[in-house]
Amino acid sequence: MSSTPVRSVIDEDRWKAVLARDQRADGLFWLGVVTTGIYCRPHCPSPRARRENVRFFASPAEARAAGLRPCRRCDPDATGTAAGRHEN
Ligand SMILES: [Zn+2]
Repeated sequence: MSSTPVRSVIDEDRWKAVLARDQRADGLFWLGVVTTGIYCRPHCPSPRARRENVRFFASPAEARAAGLRPCRRCDPDATGTAAGRHEN
């Protein structure tokens, strides 16, 4: 097995969803930013990180296992989708 990261087609699709702040991506994956140590929902209102600093995770638990902390803006640990959540 090579340790070289593979940039998959799936990740490219995920990144497009992130850039589009696509609500349909919520719950399908989470993104972590290695430079800030934060992980987010795909449609988080926070400014986007550089692509090379972003990692994708299949669950919040995976992101935490990677040493990341939950974002305070999009509350990525909350169950369900953000569609039914409204915060001021
Ligand atoms: Zn966030």
